[in-house]
Amino acid sequence: MTRVRRRNGVETMRTIAVMNQKGGVGKTTTSVNLAAGLARQGKRVCLVDLDPQAHASIHLGVDLHGGTDTIYQVLAGGKTFQSIRQMVGHNLWLAPANLDLAATELELVDAPGREFVLRKAFDAAGVSEQFDYIVMDCPPSLGVLTLNALTAATEVFIPLQPHFFALQGLSKLFETTALVTRRLNRQLKVSGIVLCLFETGTRLATDVTDDLMRFLESSDPQAPWAAARVFQNRIRRNIKLAEAPSFGQSIFDYAPGSAGALDYTGLCQEVIQAEQGVAPQSRAA
Ligand code: ADP
Ligand code: MG
Repeated sequence: MTRVRRRNGVETMRTIAVMNQKGGVGKTTTSVNLAAGLARQGKRVCLVDLDPQAHASIHLGVDLHGGTDTIYQVLAGGKTFQSIRQMVGHNLWLAPANLDLAATELELVDAPGREFVLRKAFDAAGVSEQFDYIVMDCPPSLGVLTLNALTAATEVFIPLQPHFFALQGLSKLFETTALVTRRLNRQLKVSGIVLCLFETGTRLATDVTDDLMRFLESSDPQAPWAAARVFQNRIRRNIKLAEAPSFGQSIFDYAPGSAGALDYTGLCQEVIQAEQGVAPQSRAA
């Protein structure tokens, strides 16, 4: 069954790239639990695993042996997006990855329109009529896979672990987003920074958060990150979040009463609330 969700001629599907070129900052944990949490709150969500390490696919317990079709085949041109995505829960779909995806960086390097392959595959599959949200878990690099995510996205979420060097990496990320906005995707906005692995009550976490807010407030109002905010719901360091992947479950299935489940539920509510207003993230139909 398909349904068309349009408001004033504007598509309401939100396409979120979860991106940071650093590893270990909480991209996959945030992608998986954001997708699962939004699905629990009644949204139809497709999680797209764009990391050859396939951590998001493994986190959701998908068996990647036995010839499972993956997003690699879509980017290589052999399969359609709708033929490789699979239902992994109520309201929740996954476009899985595996190590084959590592070849994409090389295979696409000289291909014309190489940054638009994913976006075209989404459009051809009619995703905006099937899902309310697409969440893309990006690899820890700014290569062609991340570029494809940014070209297909309307929004970027940046998970950030508050430590001394976090802001330095952030400027680089913002510059990359600005470049993609200028050259490839005018709709793209950095809409939020998710503070992950947050150590409540520590001086460092408070200082970095304050610096971050000051940096955003003093930014050029024309910059694609001018509207970015630090999500109020911080994701505290919580061992259940680190344990859940090895059980192939989201935090909501693995430990529904944990601080991790609580924090990601709050984040999802905050993300949904942003649908209400003018929806700066929507792409004109
Ligand atoms: P990335 O995708 O950016 O590399 P991950 O989401 O895989 O980062 O997180 C890196 C590691 O930290 C993983 O082992 C993950 O389980 C763990 N982790 C992530 N967020 C938290 C958290 N809030 N509390 C405890 N462990 C976490
Ligand atoms: Mg990851």
